[in-house]
Amino acid sequence: MYLTIDKSKCMGHGRCYGEVPSLLSDDEEGFVAEGGTTFEVPAELHDDAVTAVNACPELAIALVARPGV
Ligand code: SF4
Repeated sequence: MYLTIDKSKCMGHGRCYGEVPSLLSDDEEGFVAEGGTTFEVPAELHDDAVTAVNACPELAIALVARPGV
């Protein structure tokens, strides 16, 4: 599975990287540093990815089967 982060929706609440530092981090302005990217989630971090999706109040984070979906 892949985690995809829509940079245009990120409002910098910080909940995603606060709850899931294993996958996400913050940039110097408090927005998620991985905004605008899609990357593969290691199988052992799948639960963390689901937590990240559920943590974002802006629905900026999605878990998808493959990039571009
Ligand atoms: S929780 Fe959502 S809005 Fe907040 S920093 Fe993460 S991606 Fe951005």
